Amino acid sequence: MNQESYRDTWAEVNLTAIAENIRAIKQLYQGKDVDIMAVVKANGYGHGAVPVAKQALKFGASYLAVALLDEAIILRKADIQAPILVLGRIRPQDVGVASQYNILVTVFQAEWLEEARNYLSPEDKIQVHIKFDTGMGRVGIRTKEEADSLLEFLANHSKQFSVNGVYTHFATADETDTSYVTEQHERFVRMLEWLKKWNINAPLIHSGNSAAGMRFPEKTFNLFRLGISMYGLTPSPEITEQLPVKLKQAFSLKSRLVQVKKLPKGEAISYGATYRTEKEEWIGTIPIGYADGWLRYHSTNGGEVLVNGKRAPFVGRICMDQCMILLPEQVEVGTVVTLIGEDGFDKITMDEVAQRLETINYEIPCIIGQRVPRVYMD
Ligand SMILES: *Cc1c(COP(=O)(O)O)cnc(C)c1O
Repeated sequence: MNQESYRDTWAEVNLTAIAENIRAIKQLYQGKDVDIMAVVKANGYGHGAVPVAKQALKFGASYLAVALLDEAIILRKADIQAPILVLGRIRPQDVGVASQYNILVTVFQAEWLEEARNYLSPEDKIQVHIKFDTGMGRVGIRTKEEADSLLEFLANHSKQFSVNGVYTHFATADETDTSYVTEQHERFVRMLEWLKKWNINAPLIHSGNSAAGMRFPEKTFNLFRLGISMYGLTPSPEITEQLPVKLKQAFSLKSRLVQVKKLPKGEAISYGATYRTEKEEWIGTIPIGYADGWLRYHSTNGGEVLVNGKRAPFVGRICMDQCMILLPEQVEVGTVVTLIGEDGFDKITMDEVAQRLETINYEIPCIIGQRVPRVYMD
């Protein structure tokens, strides 16, 4: 499973943490008839879609979700049999491919169905999930008119299109103020009524992402689309305290020192010579740079790493493939440097790194490039 690599920079993915997070989250639904759909889009939020999907299925998830048809096919080619939903819109001309791989597709346009029908052979059948836009403003049906034309088509073409699910997505489930979630939920309940006229019974109804599923189980229906928190990350810092489960971050990012040098006072470091040693200093070089998704902003905005459990700041500009740190003391070449994760008594959390880049934790593992091998710990 671990890809062969010859470089001294790697991401460690703790599959045990993923199993524990799923188990802890499932406890919230004990005794209830709610299934888990593990969201592994964007290569499993950068953790690796195939290993994460296999682990999730082994430890309690029964469905998978991805953003793209291509991502779904990667999972099928890795011998994963579980139902897979594509959350984004696939092109109507690709519906035959989706059918061939037995992929669940998201639908919200009657015209899409009309066009897709031309690409299905008479013996092909595709299972769809109808998406309602209850206030996210991204994709989905908004009006009863749109719903009626789509539902009428589905009712009349049930041999080729079967409705497996109906869903929506919350825009603010990770905020302390819950009023907009309530509003979206109420709209969704009203929209579900629209199906009755057409005698369409969807076995799966779902609305909850991590934040909603953990905070509002009563608004989650019978399937929980679990993404970020499966990876051990909280959907937003403002609700961390309120979450009913303790999560364990699965992703760490590590490198090793390739050079350690003692420089006298006043020596320049990196492009632009923007940093000058302030006294005699130990400077270390690590082989990771912006081409790995380790953005230049890490050094501009006070970024630190851990070396032997101690903090060390980036100095000078981050280069494409390498960067420099100010070491607290002399250390050996080859010493492990932790950019994200624990070392000794200290840890650099995904939230710390996200705050440094003025973004959300979701973005961080996603942008760590494919050039950084993922190593799986179980
Ligand atoms: C990404 C995504 C999710 C998962 O959200 P998390 O906040 O990561 O749990 C759920 N539903 C849809 C439609 C998504 O796009």
